[in-house]
Amino acid sequence: MTPDEFAAVYPVVLDWIRQTIAEHEDSAKTVASRGFKRLPLYFSQDQLNTTKVVTISRVPIPPLSSMGLHRFGDFERGDFDGVTYLNTYFVKRTKAADEEVHFHELIHIVQWQFLGPEQFLKLYADGLERYAYRDSPLERIAYAAQAEFSRSKQAFDAQTLVLHELRKLSAL
Ligand SMILES: [Zn+2]
Repeated sequence: MTPDEFAAVYPVVLDWIRQTIAEHEDSAKTVASRGFKRLPLYFSQDQLNTTKVVTISRVPIPPLSSMGLHRFGDFERGDFDGVTYLNTYFVKRTKAADEEVHFHELIHIVQWQFLGPEQFLKLYADGLERYAYRDSPLERIAYAAQAEFSRSKQAFDAQTLVLHELRKLSAL
């Protein structure tokens, strides 16, 4: 995607994101209120108190084709377990009790915070375009951290890990 293309579509996507979050505000709960046992060992209490989660039958993905971006069709049609926008993540109802899915989306929350919306969306779109969903850099970070969360009971500071990984990408 060229810088001009990104500049044109970024405000449209960000509007869609804000509107989508607003539409689900009433059903959004804090992650802390979900009472997961392991998440507080990896994320700060403040993070869990300020991050919102919405449980939904199908997670919302921006209608990129109708915004003029046709190259992300596979992503747009994807049926994901979760998706994260700003301080809110959406999780599929069938995965609502799966702590690993929440962990994965919280990694994206931290990425949004470190990068800010513009840089997050730029990197995410660039990653999708160049490597496809699963191998895009921001997803690789989230999946690798999730695998570690799943594999080992040894807790780590997720925020520090994300910071370190973003620096390796020269994103920060
Ligand atoms: Zn992800």
